[in-house]
Amino acid sequence: MSDNVRDVIIIGSGCSGLTAAIYAARANLRPLVIDGHEPGGQLGITTLVENFPGFPEGIQGPDLIENMRQQAARFGAEFLSGHVVSVDLSRKKEGLGTKPIAVNLGREKLLSRTLIIASGASARWLGLPSEQALIGHGVSSCATCDGFFFSGKEIAVIGGGDSAMEEALFLTRFATKVTLIHRRGEFRASKIMLDRARKHERIQFLTDTVVDEVLDVNKKEVTGLRVRNLKTGEQWDLPVSAMFLGIGHTPNAGFVGDQLERDGDGYLIPQDYVCSRAPGVFISGDVADRHYRQAVTAAGTGCMAALEVEKYLEEIGK
Ligand code: NAP
Repeated sequence: MSDNVRDVIIIGSGCSGLTAAIYAARANLRPLVIDGHEPGGQLGITTLVENFPGFPEGIQGPDLIENMRQQAARFGAEFLSGHVVSVDLSRKKEGLGTKPIAVNLGREKLLSRTLIIASGASARWLGLPSEQALIGHGVSSCATCDGFFFSGKEIAVIGGGDSAMEEALFLTRFATKVTLIHRRGEFRASKIMLDRARKHERIQFLTDTVVDEVLDVNKKEVTGLRVRNLKTGEQWDLPVSAMFLGIGHTPNAGFVGDQLERDGDGYLIPQDYVCSRAPGVFISGDVADRHYRQAVTAAGTGCMAALEVEKYLEEIGK
């Protein structure tokens, strides 16, 4: 193989990709990390992280990510900003050797012996400018990360699926009242989760209702939601201190196409821990995790993927 073939390319610079980069860099593999459209992943848009081991006072999400980045760079990881359009994992025989994995960034094509896909899953947002302006200031997509900060407060959860029910139930540990706002009268949530939420004394349901604006951008904190009933058109302000989105996540795996196994929502399905069915291709973090979605679990699978890369390269005699 020619010199322009890397040992390992890591797609994604969230805590999974960066942990993989730290391990791969310390193994002298000079990993190339591709920063996508959300460098730093979900941690990059979080405020205080209190449940990542090793930080008794907590650490700001962007600081944690920056530390990991510097740690990876210190051992020789390299970074490239770009949007992965497609990958070619076919590894057909080519002459005497095997074709490397190709990563197509549109403007350029990169080649590698191994690939770690750590491209994460993006939380879905409502898309309101006021919502985007208040992310990290009372607007959150992660109840387990941020719920604690709203102890003793009234908060709202948006969505009608299992994620919204789970978030609403979890947030009752902290909130005096949780208002679950759903745009329809019917729910996608499983009956058991819906019943549990409905029975909870501190959860109130607001159906056929949408959020028109998150208040108050000028104060840089959430003071309420301007909501509207879709049936009556009535609009009013609901006083809350936080809004949690539970409207699902979208895994960032479209560039893989059908070369790897994916579930109905597009999450990658590993074959064995972090191994995929394509030789030399490993999967880590939230792009394959619809269940735990924690920084520490994403970091853990990033470590596993890097160790598998080392093993694979040894096996092919590199
Ligand atoms: P989901 O089932 O797709 O539900 C998303 C919800 O958000 C729907 O109620 C949808 O409303 C609403 N929504 C989407 N876009 C919206 C928008 N722009 N504005 C307002 N509302 C919007 O997603 P999920 O709840 O994340 O669940 C995904 C999968 O993971 C499911 O299979 C679920 O069972 C599973 N899951 C399981 C558990 C568990 O078992 N503990 C926990 C979490 C997730 P509409 O209904 O009107 O479309």
